[in-house]
Amino acid sequence: MRATLPLLLDTDFPPLRRRQLEAVQVNLGYVCNQACLHCHVNAGPTRTESMSRETIELLLAYVAASGAETLDLTGGAPELTPHFRDLVMRARAAGVRVIDRCNLTILEEPGQEDLADFLADQRVEIVASLPCYTEELVDRQRGKGVYEKSIRAIRMLNDRGYARQGSGLVLNLVYNPQGPTLPPAQEKLEADYKRILGESFGISFDSLFTIANMPIQRFGSMLVTKGLFNKYMLLLRSSHRDENLEGVMCRTLVSVDWKGYVYDCDFNQMLGIALHADGRVRPHLKDLLGRDLEDNPIAIADHCYGCTAGQGSSCGGSLA
Ligand code: SF4
Ligand code: SF4
Repeated sequence: MRATLPLLLDTDFPPLRRRQLEAVQVNLGYVCNQACLHCHVNAGPTRTESMSRETIELLLAYVAASGAETLDLTGGAPELTPHFRDLVMRARAAGVRVIDRCNLTILEEPGQEDLADFLADQRVEIVASLPCYTEELVDRQRGKGVYEKSIRAIRMLNDRGYARQGSGLVLNLVYNPQGPTLPPAQEKLEADYKRILGESFGISFDSLFTIANMPIQRFGSMLVTKGLFNKYMLLLRSSHRDENLEGVMCRTLVSVDWKGYVYDCDFNQMLGIALHADGRVRPHLKDLLGRDLEDNPIAIADHCYGCTAGQGSSCGGSLA
């Protein structure tokens, strides 16, 4: 894979500072039932990295001490981390909102037959990637048969009450463009998804999050290989909108890796750009326990334009 970090460090992106922490996003490990070609963490069934019991305890202590209201779980397939269910139950018992970034196909994996019931019982919010409403594009990006499985999984979640009026069980879907373009208008695409999935399969979801591709990891490497990196950066920079700076997710979120190291966002985690804290080279949860990060400067680089281009982009979709 071609490294993109050296191409991003020399930046004129405006300085940012943190506000009060609202969410802790955690990558629980790289084990996954799928092995998508575009996967940004190269997750798959043969990976073994997974958050330890000790780090889970530290994470729960950090969330409690920080006052963060949301715990946002990613992976790999976060559900395959051995301590996933215990983590969810304890966070929910403490009144924390829990989001599971679910690949949908995990719901049909052997041993996960009761996962949909567990998520519904715990009132976990689900955010699931469905990069298109057509079978051809989903299977091309995520593997043969993934579209059909995803549709069955959404139906299973709908049957448990997800995205059903009045249930309070939230199911959101994620779209990202296939190539080096900005996502289309979120509202219009959401309406198209709802109409087509509803008419074709009778399934429903709450919101569609459109997320821009970042010029990093596999996608960035592909751009470099094809000679498109500078063109895509020009698109991001020329589409920058100052008003999006207010809502970028790093102002109110920290991102934690499976070993417990802390970053300003998931993208910085992937690039290995550490959060600034008292000059530490690489702060860990145990260094930050009880420490207020409000007003801390955020580590920025040129990839940050991916968050502020056009309608803006975050793990919760467009910022506009
Ligand atoms: S489902 Fe997600 S985490 Fe798993 S391999 Fe695919 S992109 Fe990676
Ligand atoms: S890439 Fe990360 S640090 Fe940069 S603006 Fe986006 S969320 Fe903030």
